[in-house]
Amino acid sequence: MRTTISHEFVDTIPDHLDDGVVYISIPYATAVHRCCCGCGHEVVTPLHPRQWSLTFDGESISLTPSIGNWSFPCRSHYWVRTGRVHRAHSFTDAEIADLRIDQRAELLDHFERPAGSVPEEAAPLAESWWKRLAQWLGRRFR
Ligand SMILES: [Zn+2]
Repeated sequence: MRTTISHEFVDTIPDHLDDGVVYISIPYATAVHRCCCGCGHEVVTPLHPRQWSLTFDGESISLTPSIGNWSFPCRSHYWVRTGRVHRAHSFTDAEIADLRIDQRAELLDHFERPAGSVPEEAAPLAESWWKRLAQWLGRRFR
């Protein structure tokens, strides 16, 4: 598990993600990074009042709440706080079952109505971007 993480503000999330970088797209209100355990899975954290919030203090970022990769084989769980990665407790099977139900409903709610959150000039890009997100989410819930 890495202990530090940097960030990069981008318009659209690049195809290749480096380890240890949180890519933040304000136009799409989404942050993406590779799992901090090193397994390489891409972690999508939608920025939304009912999802994640991002704090940028001018030097480093924090994400709230914690990052719970319960659908990945690694099941890693950690906090990103001012550019540092803090390990959190591992999930139990019962917790994962609960989270799966809650987050599926919320994520579908967030991603099935993207139009209002995407600037009009970004619309052509948005289409493929939302498709990629949908694929990611599909993988998470398989
Ligand atoms: Zn992992």
